[in-house]
Amino acid sequence: MKIGILALQGAVEPHLMHLRAAGVDVELLRTSAQLASPDIAGLILPGGESTTMLKLLDRFDMIDPLHRFASEKPIWGICAGSILMAKKVSSPEQRSFSFIDVDVERNSYGRQLESFSVPLAGNSEVAFIRAPRIIRVGPDVVVKENFNGDPVWVSEGLHMATTFHPELCPERPSTLHREFVQRCEKAMSLSQKSR
Ligand code: GLN
Repeated sequence: MKIGILALQGAVEPHLMHLRAAGVDVELLRTSAQLASPDIAGLILPGGESTTMLKLLDRFDMIDPLHRFASEKPIWGICAGSILMAKKVSSPEQRSFSFIDVDVERNSYGRQLESFSVPLAGNSEVAFIRAPRIIRVGPDVVVKENFNGDPVWVSEGLHMATTFHPELCPERPSTLHREFVQRCEKAMSLSQKSR
């Protein structure tokens, strides 16, 4: 099975070891043709800078293909990726894709210098780096992890989002990478059955 990572900008490379340790192949995606490929079972939208990613997705005509992908296969958005997946974005406002019914406030835990790491979701440390805060959760969203009273790992339907970065943790694969790979395997076997 192959998992894609959107590789236009951001923290792409650190995912490779986790995904390989979870036993899957990885493809770095930079074109809409790659997004449309039947070989890719799931997609990671990495952390980075959501405004820049949005501009690049638009420039390379990848937004419609991304929506088509989301209607069929799992996507995991991390930090900036979770901002792209949200329904509504504030501070400042920005276009987003509504793949998960949550609203987020950007840079809500402070600036770069206030970034921090904590043990979470079975990993010894995950990093919050200029992370967004999930400020509203829709009725069909499952909150899988909270931190200080805020949802920080949510899922809905095929998709999941974390406001923190697990790819920098020493355990490989991280519990999150393992769970995402399982999600992709499940989605793939269901879609094969329905064919
Ligand atoms: N602050 C960034 C944004 O608003 C996200 C930071 C991250 O992905 N680590 O896009």
